[in-house]
Amino acid sequence: MVNVCIAVGIEESVTSLKTLSTRSYHRLSYGVLGYYRLGAISTATSILRNYRKANKKNPRTKIPYARKLMLTTCYGFKIQNNHLRLPIKPRKYVYVKLNNHMLKALAGLDVRSVTVTPHSISISYAKETVETKPVGFVGVDRNLDNVTTASTDGRIGRYDLSKATRIKSGYRCVKSHFKRSDKRIITRVFSKYGELERNRVQPLLHNVSRRIVDEAKTRRYGIVMEKLTGIRRLYRKGNGQSRNYRARMNSWSYGELQRQVEYKARWEGVKVIYVPARDTSKRCSICGYKTLESAQRKLWCPQCGAMLDRDENAARNIATGGLRFGPYGPPGEAMVEEREPENTTLILKVDGGKLSQPTNDNKYPTKT
Ligand SMILES: [Zn+2]
Repeated sequence: MVNVCIAVGIEESVTSLKTLSTRSYHRLSYGVLGYYRLGAISTATSILRNYRKANKKNPRTKIPYARKLMLTTCYGFKIQNNHLRLPIKPRKYVYVKLNNHMLKALAGLDVRSVTVTPHSISISYAKETVETKPVGFVGVDRNLDNVTTASTDGRIGRYDLSKATRIKSGYRCVKSHFKRSDKRIITRVFSKYGELERNRVQPLLHNVSRRIVDEAKTRRYGIVMEKLTGIRRLYRKGNGQSRNYRARMNSWSYGELQRQVEYKARWEGVKVIYVPARDTSKRCSICGYKTLESAQRKLWCPQCGAMLDRDENAARNIATGGLRFGPYGPPGEAMVEEREPENTTLILKVDGGKLSQPTNDNKYPTKT
C-alpha cells in the first residue's frame, strides 16, 4: 500500500497529505481497514517528503521503494486478558500474547500505538508528566572518554566512557582491514559490524544517562546540556587534523547520550535546558576570564590564578549557563515541547492535511 501511494505521489507530484489521501485512498485494496490505509498514506507522505528533499540536493536520487514490512496503528487495537488484539477485518482479530515484562511495563499507562514488523511488536505508551521546578542545575559535559557533571552545589560526577571509545576504535580497525572491494558485500558486512558495535556501546551510554537522570531527579535538579551543532564540521578532511584524530572525534557519540538523557529526563519530569556551546571549555568557571591551556587536560586562569580541571570547568560553566538561561526558557526547549500532543491528532493530520483545529465530523473519505 505504501508503494502504491508513493507511485501515485510521484506520478501526480503530490506533496500534501490531504491531496495524497484523496488521490490514492481509493486505489488501495478494499479489503483493508480504513485506518490501515490512512497509515500507509501517512508513511508514504513522509517517504515522499524525504525523497523530494534528497532530490533537490541530488537530482539522480532513486525513486523510493518501501521494502520492510511494517504496520503502525494507533486505532483499533486493544489490550485485554494479557493479549494484544489487532483487527485484520471488521470484527476479525488476531491475538498476540504479551509476556509479563510487557504487561508490567504497560500497567496503568496510556497505550498509544502499536508497530508490527515480521520480527517484533513495539507498543508505545504515554504518561502525563509534571515538570518539577528545579532547585538547582547540573551541567553535563560530554568528552571523548568521559562524561563530567557539575551541579550548582559544587558536586562533581565523573562517568568513564573510555570503554566505548575503545570498542569503536576496535571496530574501525577491523573495518579498515576489510579487503573485498564489492560494494554490496561491504555494505552488508559493515552494517553487521555497525549493529554489533551499537549493541556494545548502547548499554554503556544507557547506564550513564540513567545515572545522571536519577541523580538529578532525587536532588530535584534541572539538567543543562550544550547545544551542539556543526560538530561534524569541526573534524573534516582538510582541517589539518590527522586521519586518526578525525576518525576518533567523529565516532564520538555525543548526540546519542544527549538524546537518552533528554527522553529519560522528560519521562521523569526533570527539566532539560540547552545552552549554546560558546567557550564553555575555555572560560574560567570562577571569574569568567579566558584561561590558558596547561598540561594534562588542566587549565590555568591568569586572572584568579586557579588551576582547573578541563572537564570539571566545562561542566561547571554549563551548569551556570542553566542558571542564567533558566527563567527565559530557551527556544530549543519550546521546540521539543510541541511534539507531545502529536500522537492524539495523528489521524486528523493524515486525512485533514494542515487542519489546525480538530472538528467532530467524520473525516474518513469512505467507511469500511
Ligand atoms: Zn579565573
